[in-house]
This record gives sequence, structure tokens and C-alpha cells, in this order.
Amino acid sequence: MTAILDIQNVTKLYGNEVALDDLSVSLEANEYISLLGPSGSGKSTLLRVIAGFEKPDAGEIFLEGTSLVGIPAHKRGIGFVSQSFALFPHMSVFDNVAFGLRHREDEPVRDEGEITRRVNDMLALVGLVDLGDRGVNQISGGQKQRVALARTLVADPKIILLDEPLGALDANLRSRMRVELRRIRQQLGITFMHVTGNEQEALTMGDRVAVLDSGRLVQIADPDTVYNRPASARVARFLDCYNMFEGRCEDGDRFVAGGSSFPYLPAEDAQAGPGIYCVRFDKIRVAPASEASRPGEVGVRATFITSEYSGPSIMYFFEGQGSKVLEVEYHLSHRQPDEFSPGSEYALLWSPGDALVYF
Ligand code: ADP
Repeated sequence: MTAILDIQNVTKLYGNEVALDDLSVSLEANEYISLLGPSGSGKSTLLRVIAGFEKPDAGEIFLEGTSLVGIPAHKRGIGFVSQSFALFPHMSVFDNVAFGLRHREDEPVRDEGEITRRVNDMLALVGLVDLGDRGVNQISGGQKQRVALARTLVADPKIILLDEPLGALDANLRSRMRVELRRIRQQLGITFMHVTGNEQEALTMGDRVAVLDSGRLVQIADPDTVYNRPASARVARFLDCYNMFEGRCEDGDRFVAGGSSFPYLPAEDAQAGPGIYCVRFDKIRVAPASEASRPGEVGVRATFITSEYSGPSIMYFFEGQGSKVLEVEYHLSHRQPDEFSPGSEYALLWSPGDALVYF
């Protein structure tokens, strides 16, 4: 694959605040990148620096090998879709999409036939063919999102940056738009970079997921790797799908947390000392407290509190030692939910090979 966008050692300061800290990353042509990180980690700043709305304090950005330094936002060939959509409220859907073609600084399109053809092509791509004459105040939130996208795409950008584009939509629409965005990107064959604070969204949408923490890139990999092998305990924490035990490694293959002690398969960098032991919600088996663990299993005792059903999966909440909340997830596509009785004690069991230990 070839890099379309190369971000090299970019730093952005706001006063004393380091929003981007010597960040380097390359985007490949024709890929979907999700940018994930907690609030304040620098995701929006990175998009704004790439788009040209903000100037980096250090570092350089190259688009297809050409430096973007000094090139204003509207001449970069980079599209930007914001959470608020920023449509012109008094104009029709068609005119909102046509606006950029008619009014751009360089070579505005004057031929109405060409405008109609290009706008209609984009409206068809985003599934709004029959709504061109509607005012943008007469369409739904999901449709506004599509107009915002069509308006950006009609300018033929090389890259589209999407800043929490689904944040304003309700859950149903959000999952429909996820599928749509991936389809549209595949049809156009251009690169999308999608900022989200939602780990599920990042993992389902991205060909690769880039994780930001305090203005630094802490991991970039395919979703499966990020999910199964987070680069650090902090990444595991943002993913919000790991139970985490703070404690100490002893003897190279034993982890002690509170009153519990788990054997683990030592990683290459295993060392005695403080560490964090992580086991994913969906890697845990719940058994009656009286049941003996199977050979090779480890676990803890915990009291069942409550469950939360969410269609494809069910989350069970337990209270372990020191009032620690432990979560267990069953994916219902391949098993039935279990009934546990609130207030009763159970054994939460897993295989040591499924645990991750960070130092
Ligand atoms: P995210 O999009 O991941 O929530 P941002 O890129 O918005 O993070 O912010 C990164 C850091 O930069 C935060 O600490 C934020 O407070 C700071 N920041 C962002 N924009 C500004 C600004 N215009 N003025 C001052 N500080 C800012």
C-alpha cells in the first residue's frame, strides 16, 4: 500500500497545553482509519491540523508527497465533515451540495448541467436522490448527515476527515450510518479518517484503528489486534472491555492482586514488580461457587449484582473483593443467557492464556 498522507513529528500547543506531541502517522490510500482516544487526547486537533484549520507548531504534513505547509484549507483537497453538519439552513438539499462547486475560489463550476449531474450523482451515492428540492430543515438528522457528506464528496477530495460524524444521531441511525459510510468509502476508493470516542464504533468501522493518548499515537493496528492485544494498560482501559486488576508480579509467573493470586503466562518483558492484570469481559466463564475450577483455569469469587441486555450480548455485573465491579459478557449469537441470583456468590473463571499483563 502507498501512503497518501504522511504526518511527521507534528506538535500543536495551546498555551502550555500540548494537544499533539511529536505525532507521526501515515494514512494509506483507500483505507478507513478510526481515530480513537479519550476526550482531550487530541483527536479533533489532529483533524484540524490535517485539514488546515490549525497550524502545527512543529512538524510537517505531506499529501501524496507534497508538503501542505502554507497551503490554505480550501486548497488542500481534503474534505471535512463535522458533528454539527454545518448546513445552510435556508437552502435546499441540492443547493447545499452544489454550493461548494458554484462558489469555490478556484475554477467555480458555471455549467448548470455539470452541477446538476455531479450533485445528483452524490445524492444518489448517499441515498437522497428524491430529496434534492427539500429544505434542509425538512429532513431528519440522519438525512442531514448524508447531505453534509455529499457536500464534502462533491468536491472530489483525496481524503475525508470525519469528526464524530455519528455523535448527533440516535443509536439506530448510528449503526445504519456506520454501514453506509463504509459502503460509500468503498465505492469511492478514497481514504476516510473517522474520529470517535466510541470504542465499538472504532473497532467496527476501521480497517485500522489509531489510538491517541495525551497527544501521542499509542497504537495503530487492525481492529482485531487492538481488541486482542492493546498496546498498553491505558489502551485496554479506553477499550472498556477488560477487567483490570492492579497488583504485583511475583516469581515471573504469578500475579498477586488484593487477596487473589493468578498464575499467568509470562510475556517476554515479564518482571517482578507492580503491574496490571487484564482479562476481557467475554473471556470469563461463570460457574456456581461450589464448582471446582477445571484444570488450567484461574479465577476469583464474586457476588452477582445485575445484568444488562443489549440485543447481541448480555453484560453481567459482579462485585469482587474490595467492592471491585467485575464484568462478564456473553455474546448471544452462540449461547443462551444464564440466570444468576442477585446477592449470591459465583466463581468467575478464565484461562491464564487469555490474560494480559502490563508493567
Ligand atoms: P479530543 O478531540 O480528543 O477530545 P482535542 O483535540 O479537542 O481533544 O483537545 C486536545 C487538547 O487540546 C485538550 O487538552 C484541549 O483542552 C486542548 N484544546 C483543544 N482546542 C483548544 C483551543 N482552541 N484552545 C485551547 N486549548 C485547546
